[in-house]
Amino acid sequence: MSTATTTAPQTWTTPHQLTVLHQHQESTVDGVWKSRRHTGLSLLVCNCGHSTGWVATEDLDMDQVKREHGQAEPMGTPFVP
Ligand SMILES: [Zn+2]
Repeated sequence: MSTATTTAPQTWTTPHQLTVLHQHQESTVDGVWKSRRHTGLSLLVCNCGHSTGWVATEDLDMDQVKREHGQAEPMGTPFVP
């Protein structure tokens, strides 16, 4: 058995790998009780270099984002309106 080798130049790409982060705030009462809420802002960042910065979640066009960057991988606590 022989192993094929190639001298072709190696090609590097930056594939899409979309991540969505929903910003939240936390509060405590006497350092014990904790409450958490969504600020209404979300951030989309992709391995290809695309980033929205913090924008209103309701302003995100997720259909367009999915077409351009694929399915998002949620991070942190999912936002449930
Ligand atoms: Zn991308």
